[in-house]
Amino acid sequence: MHGPVGVLALQGDFAEHRQALERRGVTVRLVRRPADLRGVVGVVLPGGESTTMLRLLRLEALDRPIADLARAGLPVLATCAGLILCARSVSGPEQPSLGLLDVDVQRNGYGRQVHSGTFPLRGSVLPPGTTGVFIRAPRIRRCGPGVEVLARRDEDPVLVRQGAVLGACFHPELEHNHPVTEMFVAQLRSPRAAAGAATGGR
Ligand code: GLN
Repeated sequence: MHGPVGVLALQGDFAEHRQALERRGVTVRLVRRPADLRGVVGVVLPGGESTTMLRLLRLEALDRPIADLARAGLPVLATCAGLILCARSVSGPEQPSLGLLDVDVQRNGYGRQVHSGTFPLRGSVLPPGTTGVFIRAPRIRRCGPGVEVLARRDEDPVLVRQGAVLGACFHPELEHNHPVTEMFVAQLRSPRAAAGAATGGR
């Protein structure tokens, strides 16, 4: 890997993402302004509060450059609020988004704080027994034809990939050595292979 991974650090649980990646030997740079994106080999959009994050992204003029990098094929890991930022459309309530993943999401689609918790995930890319931590999580209500569903919680898609953008409704960074963190690190080490492996394309 010839450069750091940029972890968006305007708001939310960026410190946990940083820790999870550094534990895997990945160099991290916290991203707070466009210049911080120079030379990054991947981008993480963390969980948090998507309305606040979107407002700060625009304020710092980071929305365009991040979208451009993702469209150019740079690996992106988007978790929870990060997934909301990447969606094509957002409801509950509606808000603009970057449209990097062809999914429609409903904010807090599993209910509010009382319904948060750890749930089993199923998907052939995940070892049996893998779980996901859901915290006021978005629910994916529609997946476009170019989107690969990698894991589900019950019947709902909760881990999706389109091109080099990996989106999760849950928080892999809150579990020790979560397989989704591993998948992202593998993608960083071989972005083209990972992008080529996706059935979709963009
Ligand atoms: N509910 C938050 C939102 O709508 C996302 C929650 C999270 O990232 N854990 O922005």
